Amino acid sequence: MSVGRYAPSPTGPLHLGNLRTALFAWLFARSARSRFVLRIDDLDPGRSRQHWVERQIADLAQIGIDWDGPVLRQSQRGDAYAAALAGLEARSLLYPCFCTRAEIRQAASAPHPGALTAAGGDPYPGTCRQLDTSARAARRAAGRPAALRVHAASDPVRFDDLLLGPGGGPVDDFVVARSDGVAAYNLAVVVDDAAARVEQVVRGGDLFETTGRQIWLYRALDLPVPDYAHLPLLLGPDGTRLAKRSGAATLADRAALGEDAGTVRARLAASLGLGRATDRFSPQQLVARFDPTALRTASR
Ligand code: GLU
Repeated sequence: MSVGRYAPSPTGPLHLGNLRTALFAWLFARSARSRFVLRIDDLDPGRSRQHWVERQIADLAQIGIDWDGPVLRQSQRGDAYAAALAGLEARSLLYPCFCTRAEIRQAASAPHPGALTAAGGDPYPGTCRQLDTSARAARRAAGRPAALRVHAASDPVRFDDLLLGPGGGPVDDFVVARSDGVAAYNLAVVVDDAAARVEQVVRGGDLFETTGRQIWLYRALDLPVPDYAHLPLLLGPDGTRLAKRSGAATLADRAALGEDAGTVRARLAASLGLGRATDRFSPQQLVARFDPTALRTASR
């Protein structure tokens, strides 16, 4: 049986844009009779909060989303990430990087013909790739903490997005473990989706750019690459992306204005082309009406 998932980061309440993506991912899976797993991406101990975990789970349930099996937590998956790092190390694909963010930014802003551009972060100029053993030892002796990067620098990895059509994502020597030892997002998401046998990664369009790096990792770790469907993000009234800090954008905000979860679900469904905002379809009725190809734009 095929598997889909939704994987929020518990760094704040889910806003309507997040709930819309979650509803879409759920409809995508349920309309194909797939399993659906919920994973909490609480990888970053500095930014994740238990009360947001509880609130996010409650809000998803209120909207009518259900899932199979226990809620998965990235904070409990350290051993799996360590095993994946060992696998990359065994293939000689890792190297320590001692650069600070400021150094990377500085190198990136200087003209540098070898620089690799990477959307979603400063391009890594490759400074630490060529360090020899003694240079690494000197930096360690000076007490500089090391992140781990992959020897990846390659052409963009191309893929055919189920919604956005053919595209590609940049692949540089991206970080797979932070200098404080925490696994990086790209590594964790690949390891976890593979362990849950996720075959369709359905998520917000803001993550499209990360997909090339993630496919590179699947291939490096000999794991089957899933299909991807990136949902273009809902914009706020002013045309900017909704953020957790935007006002009146959570289920609780809407409830305070007298809107129940069914009304919010109807509005989200309408924004996905499923009926009008005044319709009152149950989650099951939405599943029956859902056409996963209706939002395909093929315009990328
Ligand atoms: N946890 C990520 C986020 O909330 C999403 C991860 C993913 O869907 O790949 O942005």
